[in-house]
Amino acid sequence: MLNKISTAVQYTPAGRVYNFGAGPAMLPVEVMQRAQSEFMDWHGTGMSVMEMSHRSDEFMSIAGQTESDLREILQIPQNYRVLFLQGGASSQFAMVPMNLSQERDVADYFHTGHWSGKALKEARKFCKVNVSATDEKNGFTSIPAPDSWLLNPDSAYVYYTANETINGVEFHFIPDVGDIPLVTDMTSNLLTRPLDVSCFGIIFAGAQKNIGPSGLVVVIVREDLIGKARQGTPSMYDYAVQTGEKSMYNTPPTYSWYMAGLVMQWIMEQGGLIAMEEKARRKSEKLYRVIDNSDFYNNNVDVACRSRLNVPFSLADETLYEEFIARGKAAGLVALAGHRSVGGLRASIYNAMPEEGVDRLIEFMRDFEKRYG
Ligand SMILES: *Cc1c(COP(=O)(O)O)cnc(C)c1O
Repeated sequence: MLNKISTAVQYTPAGRVYNFGAGPAMLPVEVMQRAQSEFMDWHGTGMSVMEMSHRSDEFMSIAGQTESDLREILQIPQNYRVLFLQGGASSQFAMVPMNLSQERDVADYFHTGHWSGKALKEARKFCKVNVSATDEKNGFTSIPAPDSWLLNPDSAYVYYTANETINGVEFHFIPDVGDIPLVTDMTSNLLTRPLDVSCFGIIFAGAQKNIGPSGLVVVIVREDLIGKARQGTPSMYDYAVQTGEKSMYNTPPTYSWYMAGLVMQWIMEQGGLIAMEEKARRKSEKLYRVIDNSDFYNNNVDVACRSRLNVPFSLADETLYEEFIARGKAAGLVALAGHRSVGGLRASIYNAMPEEGVDRLIEFMRDFEKRYG
């Protein structure tokens, strides 16, 4: 049973808390320890990766290894290029239409929540946007059925957000859009299960959810889509320039790139994407079970498209949010507040969240319900 809120935070054996924040999010402890041990002196060079020239042999080896590990993990086909760029996922909201909408001036967007909304708003600066499907009237709680989609055969590409981080809505299938290039924002669910990359024109993901520190965005782009940027596209935003310069048109975010490389190694050591998928399934299923078996907690997303990575939930009694968040924090369960745009609560449980973290959260939720329910 819970007592008065204690100010002493309960830490894990590694002296850490369980961080349920949506991003920047937890990184694996093993990755942080490795980075720490190499921080001052990377492999006998007498310098930190942070201090190395991006064009040095040492950094080129780090960059190359990171890409080849990512290629192996995702089984990326030869006709795709991989970019490590700056500007986060949001940079791609503009970069995609700038590079793909030169010949055809319209693009299809699935509007399934906050992030697809931002992306289509940005795209409207460059081309016409056709909203192919949306569940906006129900507060973005489901993905409309394929037979209701309004796909425009003249569109330059079809865009969707594979996991809506704020709304907790995830595509558990790859939309079939025929021959039109499919573009996806996988910021919050790339590397959480095996993926058939060959179904896509472009896949991008900001790093700070499952890949590494913020600022970096990983872009996987099919070769035939490169070299078609609109006139006036800045060099930094041109896929042809960035692939030509191997993501080094200017100084790349070297330390984030290195950290991403350590995360790739960690994923392989853990058993790759099959292991990531299994862990994500177990963690999310048990958390939803607690929510569904209670009248105290609620999640209103259609069961068929609930996110395995971001679990938003509400309390029957609105006056208890502050209490829940404060007591959670004291129990070493931090950043459980929902996004400022939607309120409520949210547990983000990416690859680096250990299963024990979810177990601890569940125990806490049961105790909290007993006391206040
Ligand atoms: C976090 C997030 C973004 C924004 O990422 P930035 O790196 O801050 O630009 C975009 N899309 C999705 C799906 C996200 O989860």
